[in-house]
Amino acid sequence: STQIQLVNRPHGWPTSDDFRTITVDLDDLAPGQVRVANEFISVDPYMRGRMIDTRSYIPPFVLGETMTGGAVGRVVESTVDDLPVGTLVSHQYGWRDVAQEDAAGFRALPDAPGDASSSIYLGTLGMTGLTAYVGLLTIARLQPGDTVFISGAAGAVGTAAGQIARLKGADRVIGSAGSAEKVALLTDRYGYDAAFNYKDEPSVRKQLREAAPDGIDVYFDNVGGDHLEAALDSFKDGGRAALCGAIAQYNSTTKTPGPSNMANIITRGLTLTGFTVGHHFDQAAEFNREVGQWFAEGKVVHDETVIDGIDNAVDAFLGLMRGENTGKMVVRTA
Ligand code: NDP
Repeated sequence: STQIQLVNRPHGWPTSDDFRTITVDLDDLAPGQVRVANEFISVDPYMRGRMIDTRSYIPPFVLGETMTGGAVGRVVESTVDDLPVGTLVSHQYGWRDVAQEDAAGFRALPDAPGDASSSIYLGTLGMTGLTAYVGLLTIARLQPGDTVFISGAAGAVGTAAGQIARLKGADRVIGSAGSAEKVALLTDRYGYDAAFNYKDEPSVRKQLREAAPDGIDVYFDNVGGDHLEAALDSFKDGGRAALCGAIAQYNSTTKTPGPSNMANIITRGLTLTGFTVGHHFDQAAEFNREVGQWFAEGKVVHDETVIDGIDNAVDAFLGLMRGENTGKMVVRTA
């Protein structure tokens, strides 16, 4: 099995020197074990947080151990009746082409719907889709008629969030992303009413004001910093934010300036709620039913950027942090 391990804790942007590739000879299966040939592994922004040794909601990666994280693959050898050869499974054994572990670590999945590939279970019908669903509906308490702003709108969470907001009756959905191509996709493909490039002038604050002259009810924050500040500026009274991520600062070596207008939280009676999807897996069944149905009916699209080869996992991760993905970034290992 080819596996990627973290060997240094990066300061600022990770480099390939912070990782190493190893080859592991797998033993014969022990009773209770299965062997899974991965089809796709997930690279995710939260992994950057786990590369440093700090207190967080999940423990840091252990140096010299194989990178864990979401993956989907097929059982190729099995000792248990529940997971026969050929079963599609998801698991958290991460950056390796073959995973061999106790059956309890794998969850059986139905084959991907329609002509989607199994990677959809890492994206729109997986963790990032659930994050969008929970963040909008449970955390930000989206109401029909709301005006919604979503940052990081062309990424995995953002593409799902824009489409879910629209289907749940938002009146106006505004997105920001980092290129002209992505901005065009937001309105042409992901159901956004208006979109802007946060790298363009004028400021995010001004571009959001222009896109939402009457203000916003809901902000889904994937970025933090200047985007959160812009949202605080544009909120209507009683506005609600789901604080999902702050990718603008994940590789920063200096303190990123926080919003200078936090007092608006008081004067406008705003509710800003942070969340991590791991505390909301109880909503997975409802999410699977509702978003799965939308996908089957063609009301929701799933897009992804696919990087081939386990050896390119680090490049895929760094590309994700640089914005080289549209929709979910995945590594194809098969
Ligand atoms: P994405 O697919 O959105 O990929 C990351 C994107 O971030 C890039 O494509 C890039 O797009 C954008 N980006 C990078 N740097 C910046 C910057 N300085 N300012 C603005 N945008 C930037 O990743 P995910 O959908 O997986 O995750 C999105 C966010 O959601 C992240 O913050 C992540 O940590 C968070 N998250 C939180 C979860 C939770 O449980 N709370 C669960 C899953 C994700 P662009 O070209 O537009 O710059």
